Amino acid sequence: MNNITLAPVQADQPSHLMPVFGRQSISFVRGRGAYLYTEDGTEYLDALTGIAVCGLGHAHPVLAEAIAEQAMTLIHTSNLFEVPWQTAAAQKLAQVSGMEEIFFSNSGAESNEGAIKIARKYGYQQGIATPKIIVADKSFHGRTLATLSATGNKKVQEGFAPLVEGFIRVPFGDLEAIEEAALQHPDIVAILIEPIQGEGGVNTAAQGFSYLEDIRRICNQHNWLMMLDEVQTGNGRTGKYFAYQHTNIIPDVLTTAKGLGNGFPIGAVMTQGRGVGVLAAGNHGSTYSGSALGSRVVYTVLELLEKENALENAAQIGQYIVDQIREQLKEYQVKVRGFGMMIGIELPKDCGKLVNIARDEYKLIINVTAGSVVRLLPPLNMTQEQADDLIQRLIPAIKSFLEA
Ligand SMILES: *Cc1c(COP(=O)(O)O)cnc(C)c1O
Repeated sequence: MNNITLAPVQADQPSHLMPVFGRQSISFVRGRGAYLYTEDGTEYLDALTGIAVCGLGHAHPVLAEAIAEQAMTLIHTSNLFEVPWQTAAAQKLAQVSGMEEIFFSNSGAESNEGAIKIARKYGYQQGIATPKIIVADKSFHGRTLATLSATGNKKVQEGFAPLVEGFIRVPFGDLEAIEEAALQHPDIVAILIEPIQGEGGVNTAAQGFSYLEDIRRICNQHNWLMMLDEVQTGNGRTGKYFAYQHTNIIPDVLTTAKGLGNGFPIGAVMTQGRGVGVLAAGNHGSTYSGSALGSRVVYTVLELLEKENALENAAQIGQYIVDQIREQLKEYQVKVRGFGMMIGIELPKDCGKLVNIARDEYKLIINVTAGSVVRLLPPLNMTQEQADDLIQRLIPAIKSFLEA
């Protein structure tokens, strides 16, 4: 272990950070695989991985070396030039996703901004003056103005009126509501949904993934773009590269970020089918888009997911974790939903406090979303032993919380 350079924080000064986050008063100074360490060396099992970001675990040595090597060679030149690592990353991402055109962004919200722009332009090309996009209740698409407007959560939107227009909201999983919207609004051009709602509580539609197949059919019927937000579900999280790969369909527009850079901030908006060619020269851009460093990270992450069999592992170990939770909590009123390493445990009451209990008493990092859903997002390459370690920390934490 190399010496750690600690941040030179001036403890007697204000932090000067804008207080937008509800932070836990703990910090980690290093990580390794599935574990995080505080300055005094205390070890925590990380079942959150930076919110579904560090799919390969912390400080992966091969990724760290690729980053270091590229940083010492060339970080960024801009898109005024050819960027070979960007092309290599796009080729690899196209290969694993089945998508055709790729634009690299710097975050999930920006990827969705790209998708929203594609839908608008797609409408414009058909002479539709006010193109509309169908979005779902309880969805989360980001914090920029357009993406918070698309998000189905009043708390995210409050205080930021006027919202961006052009979104029509339907209940998640409700096909009739989509058909109804189609009748009422002739200017719909796209549907944007998450295959599994992450922030919304790890939910699929009630009918499961067949919902995606029905949406694909409806989009084909109406000549709409099917746009999937796989910012959280992508890059192996659910045991496939992308969650739609649990079905036979493919979207026209696909967005991702989070696990794509394993902690390096990079995302992508991708097109195939109806989405191809909509954005042309001059229609979109970003100074940082697909920098040499970011692109090499993407390339290396995708290569490592394959080399380490991370998808199969996520599916198998994720199922093991779900089975264990179901078995060990069968006396309790909990609902467990698992898709690879994206696991939700719905408790019979609000459980925000469980985050502190798990952290302080069991040295386990978890997340709670939608009030009463414990969300686990462990590394995709977690071993069986680490999964047992997770279960041994998690189950007593949940039991003690529910019995209190
Ligand atoms: C996290 C998330 C986003 C936003 O990504 P940022 O990188 O935070 O902008 C968008 N959509 C989904 C489904 C997400 O989980």
